[in-house]
Formats: sequence, C-alpha cells, structure tokens
Amino acid sequence: MTQQRKHKIGASDLPAIMELEPYHCKRRKWFEVAGVKPEFEISDTFHTLRGKRLESIAADYFSEITGFKLLKVPPRQHPKYPFIGASPDRKILHPDKKRFPGLLEIKIPGQWHFKKIQQQGIPESWQVQVLFGMYITKWEWSYIAVFWADGWEMKYEPIEKDPDRMKDLQEIALDFWISVEKKQIPDAEATAVKCKSCPFKETCFKIGVEIKEKGEEKILTPSVPLVQKPALETKVQRFIELRNLKNEIEENLQQLRDEIKELYPTDYGEVIQLPKARVMYRKYQREQLNSKALKEQAPEIYSKFVYLKNIEDLRIYEIW
Ligand code: SF4
Repeated sequence: MTQQRKHKIGASDLPAIMELEPYHCKRRKWFEVAGVKPEFEISDTFHTLRGKRLESIAADYFSEITGFKLLKVPPRQHPKYPFIGASPDRKILHPDKKRFPGLLEIKIPGQWHFKKIQQQGIPESWQVQVLFGMYITKWEWSYIAVFWADGWEMKYEPIEKDPDRMKDLQEIALDFWISVEKKQIPDAEATAVKCKSCPFKETCFKIGVEIKEKGEEKILTPSVPLVQKPALETKVQRFIELRNLKNEIEENLQQLRDEIKELYPTDYGEVIQLPKARVMYRKYQREQLNSKALKEQAPEIYSKFVYLKNIEDLRIYEIW
C-alpha cells in the first residue's frame, strides 16, 4: 500500500496529527506522510488560493503597521531529526540587530472566520503550528497575523515561547514518524463531515474504521460521488461563507432582541417612540393548525385541503 514517502513532518502537519479542529484526522495525515497514493488529487479552493496569493500583501501590511522588517526564508529542518521541519511564512528581524529574530505566521481567512477569531481568539491549531515552527527554527519569539483582505483588517498577536509545550510537540512528531516507519496505521473514527472529501477513503475503509453514529442513523455516507468542478466549488464555498455570516448576524440579532425585551418599559404600552425608532413589543396568542393531528384524526378532511406542491431542495453541508 505505501509508496516512497513524500513528506517530512512540518509545522502545519501537527494540528492534524493532534486531531485538533478543523484538521482532525490523524490517519489521513498518516497516509499523506507515508506516501500512500491518493484516490484523487485535491485542487486548490479559493481559500487556499487566497492564502497563497495574498500572503505577500499581508506581510507588507504587518510590516507597515508594526514597523518590523521581514525576510522570506527557505524551509528549515531539524538538525538532528531531518524528517521534521517548518516553513515559516516570514522571519521577523529584531530592531536590535544583536537579538534573535522572530517568526511570523500569516493566515488569510474569509470574513466569517476572521470575525470568529476576533471574538474567540487564535485557534489552538494555529498556535501549535507557530510553536512547532519556533522549536525548529530556534527563533525566540513570534507573531501570528490574521488578515481579512476585503475589510482590510489585521489582527495580530504574539505567541509566547513555551519550552515544555514545544518539547511535547517534538515528542508527538517523533512518535508519529515512528508509526510511519513501523507501518502502524492509527485508529480512525469516520464521520460524514470529515470523510466525504478524503482522498484516502477507499484505502481507509478497507482497513476498517469506527463509524460514528448519530442516534439510530449512521451518518457516514461513503458512497457519495466526488465531483471536481472548480466553478461549482467556488460558488458553493462562497455560499457557505455568506451563510456562516448570516448565522452569525442572526445570533447577534437574537441576542439584541432578548436584551431589548428585557429593557422594554412595558408600563408605556405596546408601542413606544424613541428619538430615532418606533418599537412594538407584545405577547399574544394566535391559532395554529396542527396538520399532523388533522391528518391522523380526520384524514378525509385533510385530503380535501391538501395539494401537491413542487419542491426544490438544495442542501449544502460544510466540510473541512
Ligand atoms: S476516510 Fe475519514 S477516517 Fe479515513 S482517513 Fe479519511 S478522513 Fe480519516
């Protein structure tokens, strides 16, 4: 099954090896590192293209707002374990030239992901990449810069050196490498979300995976055909991005609705006038038809009022 190994283990592989969201399949990473032939080639999505094409622009912007000088550097490998390495996006030169340089990791997400990071902070998977990069390069400090190109906004944060954690990451990388050398394939848990687009699915399923259940229903759908159509993929990804944004806006609106209801001065009645808005808040009951009960208890009446309507059903599930 395995061919010549293609890969070293790089900083960006660590999150998958650790099964951190959203890169969460250690077995898939094992197949990649072990050089197992994929069942199809994965083409660039607009997310990956955006990251590649805008990296230099984000680096320049980081330099402009922080005043740091940056350098492009080639990938590094560990002096003792050449099969582990890192490809820092940029080296940051310390203003005091006698001091060690720092590492810059650049991320360029879409709007929804950027807003999520602003609210919830830098994800652990990215912090792990940076720490492993610092461990390989021996650079003493680092920044992660998250750039949202459409809004021309950048969030950047230092990631503090953490020698204990970096040592743990080294152990994780070495153990993983040993499992590749010894051909010990990691256990895996299959889920519809993570397996649908996996280029090693047939190989993986032949070996056997634990299938994650959802209630009574098995949620794995391994027989769904994979379609590679870049124009469709772009539209679907754009749809997902906007839907995520809409969901976030709806959550915010709901929270505001609840807060407004709490502040509402009910002693003024149902309608009030604010300087720049009119607001109405009332609680009331209205009749609703229980069509399920009607169908069960009076099917002859139900059938007189029911009619067939043409339905178009488009469902899009996000997968990583
Ligand atoms: S099919 Fe699923 S469980 Fe198997 S390697 Fe791929 S992502 Fe992992």
